[in-house]
Order: sequence, then structure tokens, then C-alpha cells
Amino acid sequence: MRDLTTCFSRAIEWFRRYGRNFVWRRTSNWYIVLVAEFCLVRTRASVAERFVSNLLKRYPRPEDLCRASDDELYRIFRSIGLPRRGPALRRTVCEILDRYGGAPPCSYEELLRLPGVGRYIASALLTMVCEDPRPFIDTNVARVLRRVVGNSALRSEDLESLVTGRGLDVKDLCLALIDIADAFCKPSKPRCGSCPLRECCAFYLGNAQQ
Ligand code: SF4
Repeated sequence: MRDLTTCFSRAIEWFRRYGRNFVWRRTSNWYIVLVAEFCLVRTRASVAERFVSNLLKRYPRPEDLCRASDDELYRIFRSIGLPRRGPALRRTVCEILDRYGGAPPCSYEELLRLPGVGRYIASALLTMVCEDPRPFIDTNVARVLRRVVGNSALRSEDLESLVTGRGLDVKDLCLALIDIADAFCKPSKPRCGSCPLRECCAFYLGNAQQ
């Protein structure tokens, strides 16, 4: 089975049965999504989960976080090895409150103008908060996609167009690929034998035939 649409449908089916159920995946609240995405940069979701939960308890509303001191946020974020993300998150939250009246703009270009917001976070906000699905592809999802299609040279734009235009749920597909990367498609020693994509993965099929 090498049809990509069928392959991705299988990923979505797998995700709906076995995907991880983090709080930031079950909400369209921009503050929760933004806090989570800032914490997930270079941090495994399983590690970030408790951190995000504690942060939201300490600063339950965006106004609370905006009023926090940079020193305090620097110290808190140091515990996950991302000290500068704390003050950066505060600046972003304050800008959304002050400049956009308490809701982030639902425009990719405007989101990219927010401090600390790059392509990935802008796409995640559009998808989760604005109901305007746009692929959010980090290095782990990129690895899965490149292996599935058997082309390690694909650029970000190529990867984005791979997952759109198929009539599939882009949000669930990207979340599925995040979880498949975490559970099976490790950078080295992928666990292909248990992976739901093994029947349509060029990397696995190529290796399996050798
Ligand atoms: S079959 Fe292997 S290489 Fe392909 S997506 Fe799954 S874990 Fe990754």
C-alpha cells in the first residue's frame, strides 16, 4: 500500500484510537495552546505536560502571566532548559493583550510578527485556535514524512504540501505524525515493526526488501 492519502488516513485512525490526550490538544483556548507550544520547543511532550499544568496553575489567565516578572519566568523555564522562553512567552502574551485586544490575530503573517512565534507556532495557533488548518511540522514530523516518502531532501514547503489537499483532517494528521515520531519513528533505531505506517513507508519497505 503506497497511496499516501490511504497511508495518512491510517495514521489518523491510529491517532484517534491511541493518540496522546494532552490538555492543549483538547482546547481552542489561545492562551493554553500558546503556553504549551512555547514549552514544547525542544522538550518532549511527556516532560512538558506537568510543566505546562503547573504554569497554568500559577498563571491561570493571560493577564497573570503578563504581570509576572521576567526574572521569575526565567527561573521557572530554566527547569526545562529553556530559560529565555519564559520572558519571550510573557512578551507575546502581553502583546496579544495590548495590541490585539486579548485574542491572537487569525492571520499567518500577523502571527509571525509576534515575538517568539515562528512558522510552527503560527501554524499551530491557526489550526487549533482559528479553525484555519495549516500543517504544523517540526523536525520530528519532518523525519517521519521524509522516511515515508523516501526522500530525505524534501524542504519545509514540500512537506507542507504533502499533508494538505487530500481531504484529510490536517490537525489530526499532524498530531498523529507527532505521536508516531515519538512512539516509533525515533531518529535512530525506528521501531518499524510496530508502526502503523509500515505498509506504506518507503524507508521500511526499502529496508524490508534488502
Ligand atoms: S515504518 Fe519505520 S521509518 Fe516508517 S514511519 Fe514507521 S517507524 Fe518511521
